[in-house]
Amino acid sequence: MKRMIACCLFLVLTLFGCAETKNTQYYMMDTVMTFSLTGERAADAERAIADRVAHLETVFSPTREDSELFRVNQNSGSRMEVSSDFAKLLELSLHAETLGAFDVTLGGAVELWSQGKVPANETLEAQVTGCEKVSLSENTIQTEKGLKLNFGAVAKGYASDCAKEILEDYEIPRALLSLGGNLYAHGVKEDGTPWNIGVRDPWGEAQDWLGILQAENEFIIASGDYERGFEENGVRYHHILDPKTRRPAESDLRETVVVSKNGSRGDILSTALFVMGKEKAVDYWKSMRDFEMILVSSDGRILITPGLAARFTLSQDSYILEVIE
Ligand code: AMP
Ligand code: MG
Repeated sequence: MKRMIACCLFLVLTLFGCAETKNTQYYMMDTVMTFSLTGERAADAERAIADRVAHLETVFSPTREDSELFRVNQNSGSRMEVSSDFAKLLELSLHAETLGAFDVTLGGAVELWSQGKVPANETLEAQVTGCEKVSLSENTIQTEKGLKLNFGAVAKGYASDCAKEILEDYEIPRALLSLGGNLYAHGVKEDGTPWNIGVRDPWGEAQDWLGILQAENEFIIASGDYERGFEENGVRYHHILDPKTRRPAESDLRETVVVSKNGSRGDILSTALFVMGKEKAVDYWKSMRDFEMILVSSDGRILITPGLAARFTLSQDSYILEVIE
């Protein structure tokens, strides 16, 4: 009898495949990443994703002295060959079309603000920035002497695009990948319903949700003033810079959430919309309409695009939800 049961079990597993769930956590690209994958080849796919992200860190890290970006920044002013990942993401970044709100050439200013104190005006103004000072032809790059690139606002989005491709190659039916503020919800939950994604409350702690968003097969990417920064003389300085001033953007938003079918683009947008501020961000969305967003305004109002309205539930009554027309 036992043998019969074992045989039946073997038959069932062979017929339907043996779906396993693989959960892992890493610290990569300067952030905590958690991967959860379910499927017959979950372990192999997870390994491939972790390896790919670890490799991308060696390409885009601004601080690792062995990274490709570090080498490019050190050798500004001369012509260099770059990898295809580098060329691809630089090309996308140079043509981001965000009304100047996202700027991949802010590397020098980003570095100054990362030191935990307010930089001197002269030092900040002396930084060489501007997309017109970068030329890229296939895999050959030349930047103006002194210019530093920084992919902090887009590299994790690019990594999540690469991870999505791996999930598809390995035919993984469902997965939830969190790369810091960049989430990718692949497929749906086992019961066939969408994933529930918590949207961070910028006034709360890391585990406090403003609301829950239902998502499937899309990227959910958040930027906010709560993420990184420092305090000096009672003033908080966050990490998202306005390219015009090279200082933390004086935005009337506290958080932006972009829902997109493309991780890199979504990551660029989450940062850019924050810099634009509420009014410009809403106008920008109206002119594009190829992504969805949630804007959390400093006055506690939450603006949401119509495509998300039916699948976002506020967790707290104190906020006012408004649907953008
Ligand atoms: P995110 O968390 O995606 O909004 O990206 C913020 C990070 O991108 C910062 O920590 C900086 O490294 C970099 N950054 C800050 N401001 C900008 C900007 N306006 N354009 C491009 N990158 C930026
Ligand atoms: Mg971003």
